[in-house]
Amino acid sequence: MSEGCGASGPVTSPMRSAVRAMTIRRAAASTAAGSAGAPKVAASTEPTVLKTARTPIGGGRHRLEFANGATAETDLVIGADGVWSRVRPLVSDAEPEYSGVAFLDVRYDDADHRHPAIAELVGNGHLFARGDDGNAIIAQRNSNGVIRGYVAMRAEAGWAARSGVRVDDLPALRTHLLERFAGWSPTLLPFLTDSDGYVDRGIWFLPVPMAWEPTPGVTLLGDAAHVMGPFGGHGVNLALLDATELAHAIAEEPTLDAAIRTYEPVMQARAAGYAGPSNAATRRFFGVGEGAGEGVGEGSDTEPHTAPDTAAEHRRYLEGAERYRRASRPA
Ligand SMILES: Cc1cc2nc3c(=O)[nH]c(=O)nc-3n(C[C@H](O)[C@H](O)[C@H](O)COP(=O)(O)OP(=O)(O)OC[C@H]3O[C@@H](n4cnc5c(N)ncnc54)[C@H](O)[C@@H]3O)c2cc1C
Repeated sequence: MSEGCGASGPVTSPMRSAVRAMTIRRAAASTAAGSAGAPKVAASTEPTVLKTARTPIGGGRHRLEFANGATAETDLVIGADGVWSRVRPLVSDAEPEYSGVAFLDVRYDDADHRHPAIAELVGNGHLFARGDDGNAIIAQRNSNGVIRGYVAMRAEAGWAARSGVRVDDLPALRTHLLERFAGWSPTLLPFLTDSDGYVDRGIWFLPVPMAWEPTPGVTLLGDAAHVMGPFGGHGVNLALLDATELAHAIAEEPTLDAAIRTYEPVMQARAAGYAGPSNAATRRFFGVGEGAGEGVGEGSDTEPHTAPDTAAEHRRYLEGAERYRRASRPA
């Protein structure tokens, strides 16, 4: 996935409304010892918000309670519920740490006609602009004439509320952004003021490495397991890979416990390998935390200021995918 895949938004995010919570139950027949072939799973989506998953009821089973009063008892609960996971406390006390950086999703619809100056600046690719004040504008041409991106700021947690600004109060928000970006070139200011919508996304990090003891009947994937800085563009890709590998482990291992033990160490080590550099690049770019004062670093592919060699990047992805396929092919 490329830049522009926002995430880690609030539970109420309309884009996420279709995907709520998923419980996976093994079909009873498939749990019989010695049954031929892969165990079967049945997945069901619950059309409501998970309130708590904190009631182990023995034998690795958990009771989930949903906001609408519904309940479910699970053989395996998979926390795929993002940075503020309600499932994570079942396996770890770790809590996300605020990075010191806030992103606002911005979007310019029908850009060539409605936002021609922005369309001209972004062209057919990417625009990255960074100030010494810890602010940045990042935009990317998408399909259907849409340009999407981020207005990004070195900012305290809850910056909008602390400044007395509501993100849905567009005139007040735009005025506030202009104040934060005082001194920026007027050429770039339309990125602040002309967005067709704004979504506030703070950047949070889980500890690196993020690991826990395997716990019967529960596991995590995606941001719930390893939320990290966006500089690297790994989060969605890791979430998809986690989900795929967990599904394989469930299908191939004789028990759910064995599946968790196969899946988690690989997932955790891989995520740590990406999270360290992604968090460091985010900190360095915005001059926050351990990276404060270092300025923008020099050219790895997690350094957003360097114009990427996309052909080489593409080749690296293909080679990496081939290595991954070879390593995961049964002997
Ligand atoms: C600004 C920004 C830019 C990014 N850019 C990239 C990029 O270019 N490339 C990339 O690969 N990644 C990027 N990422 C990271 C990526 O978006 C995330 O890693 C990815 O979305 C994680 O997917 P997820 O399914 O684990 O979590 P989420 O996408 O957060 O999905 C979690 C889901 O769980 C639901 N949920 C949460 N709590 C509950 C509850 N209590 N009950 C029921 N449902 C619940 C939510 O509504 C949501 O649908 C970016 C992130 C940010 C913030």
